[in-house]
Amino acid sequence: WAKPLFADVAGDIQVSFEFFPPKTEKMEQTLWESIETLEPLQPRFVSVTYGAGGSTRERTHNTVARIARETSLAPAAHLTCVEASRAEIDDVARAYWQAGVRHIVALRGDPPNGGSVFYPHPDGYSNAAELVAGLRKIAPFEISVAAYPECHPDSSSKAADLDNLKAKIDAGADRAITNFFLSADVFLRFRDDVAAAGLDCEIVPGILPVSNVAQTRKMAAFCGVAIPAWMDRLFEGLDNLPAARQLVAATVAAELCGQLYSGGVRNFHFYTLNRAELAYAICHLLGLRPKGPSA
Ligand code: FAD
Repeated sequence: WAKPLFADVAGDIQVSFEFFPPKTEKMEQTLWESIETLEPLQPRFVSVTYGAGGSTRERTHNTVARIARETSLAPAAHLTCVEASRAEIDDVARAYWQAGVRHIVALRGDPPNGGSVFYPHPDGYSNAAELVAGLRKIAPFEISVAAYPECHPDSSSKAADLDNLKAKIDAGADRAITNFFLSADVFLRFRDDVAAAGLDCEIVPGILPVSNVAQTRKMAAFCGVAIPAWMDRLFEGLDNLPAARQLVAATVAAELCGQLYSGGVRNFHFYTLNRAELAYAICHLLGLRPKGPSA
């Protein structure tokens, strides 16, 4: 009979985890518990998002700096071009370098206040490719950028989207991390398209374990991600059963990762939403085990 999806995993994967800067003391505690839980898995890096229009600048900086100070983890700071001049962004980047942060996730960002068109700041970077080039002049950062397996909504075509990714890599980015997607085929096709376009760069799938379809649907509509019909059916009737929803979320995300693993993928980036359990369980299923003194 057919082998289970995870029968042949060898633990030969590398992972990274994404967090957002906490707003309250309670959220801060949850975040740090999650970081402690995930640290023994020795991720390549952990990244911290940057709120729209720089709204989390302080909190992002504090979270990243604390990770650098108090853990063995390599932090990556997200940075966007929204509503800031080049000089302001360059100052933020220099402060990161001085705080020992060596990795930036360089992004354009979304239009502020739910707007639909992005207008660059008059003295600002107008897109992520320009930001990457700017960062390269400041310090030898490791730089990750965003990629979109289902095409960014602002792109006129798939080819234009790939051209934009190429511009970011040519400007000096080291890897691309993808937006979330809900079917392995979507990522594997995108990986093929990237290779066919002659782009030789690491593309890391961004994995979002979905435990709330309504919330995910809103996000998906905003960034052009398709939600398969079966997803709604899987979560039917679970609105008041959060633990059951978590189990379904883990099963669906684990199967997605198992299929990616079967397709040769060995690097995974998890959108943790500051909770460790789902990402930890999936890493475990993929064969990853704690390492180091705290294991
Ligand atoms: P870019 O790569 O600059 O491109 C965006 C779009 O504009 C593309 O469609 C491109 O084709 C088009 N474009 C670029 N340059 C030009 C040009 N010169 N002329 C015409 N069209 C052009 N957002 C946040 O606010 N904070 C975060 O922390 C954050 N983290 C993220 C992490 C990941 C892994 C991902 C995938 C996304 C993240 N985002 C974040 C969301 C991101 O900011 C948005 O998707 C944003 O709309 C695009 O950012 P980008 O860096 O991909 O932009």
